[in-house]
Amino acid sequence: MLSEPISNDSGSEHMSDCIFCKIIHGEIPSQVVYEDERIFAFDDINPQAPVHTLIIPKAHYASLQDIPEDKLDFISHLFSKIREIAQKKGLAENGFRIVLNTGRDSGQDVFHIHFHLLGGRRMAWPPG
Ligand code: AMP
Ligand code: ZN
Repeated sequence: MLSEPISNDSGSEHMSDCIFCKIIHGEIPSQVVYEDERIFAFDDINPQAPVHTLIIPKAHYASLQDIPEDKLDFISHLFSKIREIAQKKGLAENGFRIVLNTGRDSGQDVFHIHFHLLGGRRMAWPPG
């Protein structure tokens, strides 16, 4: 855990069949990296790099395309926290990659929007 108190006024919607909503609510255990009233970060169960953390909004949106235009503000907050997490995980100097899979062709598996923070090794380009 990296700091900031947990508020219970998240207003998040709990989708009962969503694995990431269950993780947010502690119904499925996770390695918590960061939490505040709007976002939640935890380590990926199947890491693809030495650091592989998922950062998600507490509110359930299936993908980027499902966020209403007037609810996009949290993205700025989320990226601010991604920067902090990257710094605390020692990735700031050498760099890191953020991945947002959106929809079928991207390979998105979990339909609760999540940003992958990957680092600690040299990344290839183009991505597969
Ligand atoms: P995506 O393919 O972009 O939808 O990524 C889904 C990610 O969620 C994958 O990297 C999975 O390894 C990860 N994942 C699935 N279940 C869990 C879990 N219970 N705890 C942590 N990460 C998970
Ligand atoms: Zn969800």
